[in-house]
Amino acid sequence: MAKSYTCRDVGVECDWKTSAETEDEILAEVQKHAAEVHPTIELTPELVDAVRAAIKDE
Ligand SMILES: [Zn+2]
Repeated sequence: MAKSYTCRDVGVECDWKTSAETEDEILAEVQKHAAEVHPTIELTPELVDAVRAAIKDE
C-alpha cells in the first residue's frame, strides 16, 4: 500500500505532495523538499513526529 503526505497536512502553505511505499522514503523526500523549498523551516524532532503522524495510507 502506498503512503502519501502533503505539506498542508502539517499546516504549511504549500501544495507539494509526495507518495512512496514506506514512511522512511517519504521522510527522505520531505527532508529534500524542505531543504529546497522551506529553508526557514527547521525539521525538529517534533516536526518530524508531526510529519510521521500526517502520513496517510492511500
Ligand atoms: Zn512544501
